[in-house]
Amino acid sequence: MKLEHYTNVPLEDVVMEGAKGAKIRWLIARKDGAPNFATRMFEVDPGGHTPFHSHSWEHQNYILEGEGALVTENGDKPFKPGDVIFVPPLMKHSYKNTGDSLMRFLCIIPIEQPTPVKKKNVNPFAKGVANNC
Ligand code: ZN
Repeated sequence: MKLEHYTNVPLEDVVMEGAKGAKIRWLIARKDGAPNFATRMFEVDPGGHTPFHSHSWEHQNYILEGEGALVTENGDKPFKPGDVIFVPPLMKHSYKNTGDSLMRFLCIIPIEQPTPVKKKNVNPFAKGVANNC
């Protein structure tokens, strides 16, 4: 188990291209023995943002502090402390600080990458397992 104050978890720069003034703390992750989920805390400076990107896994967010907006392909969606956000797989997104103070939020992700959708085999005999026709 782990019980620790978040300030004891290292604060690291988000180095991904497109990030500006964004830092991350991996609060609970694989390094702690967590098999399924990682809980991260992001800290974004005024004027900063995370990269505008998408991926095959979801985000579950809880806004802790500051003012911000979720940038989407359908415009910016403002958020405030206490708001929760669900970003489904493949949706383009970025979190930006729209206020004049630090913006912090939690972001929970699955640790294992989801299994890619397998293409159906169009030839049932290709693998030699079909027993009907
Ligand atoms: Zn993301």
